[in-house]
Amino acid sequence: MAGEPQADCLFCKIVSGDVPATVVRETETTLAFRDINPQAPTHVLVIPRVHYPDAGTLATVEPAIAADVLREAAAVAVADGTDGSGYRIVFNTGAGAGQTVFHAHAHVLGGRGFNWPPG
Ligand code: IMP
Repeated sequence: MAGEPQADCLFCKIVSGDVPATVVRETETTLAFRDINPQAPTHVLVIPRVHYPDAGTLATVEPAIAADVLREAAAVAVADGTDGSGYRIVFNTGAGAGQTVFHAHAHVLGGRGFNWPPG
């Protein structure tokens, strides 16, 4: 069924507590935890508790939860104090764009400068 946990999904295992994570915020619908391989002083992943393979699918099927993810991403930036200097929210979508975990997630990156266009 749409949104059901997937046995082979790393982020579903973080949601269930089977894989540990450094959780920084949680809501009824979302979980935010520090990336294991940080690319910036602040690098937090915000995920929906439900399983969808990418952010676009989540937004199509569960738009309210997609909005929760975005709101929590901004809240992470405020909590880490990166909102004043600017921060980046990234949704890698598809292997060609660098997506490696196929459970929708927002990267929240902050605490350093960023180039545009991104690499
Ligand atoms: P993607 O490449 O956009 O799919 O992002 C997946 C992210 O998950 C990468 O930045 C990884 O460093 C991160 N990651 C992989 N395994 C773990 C983990 O166990 N805990 C926290 N972050 C993880």
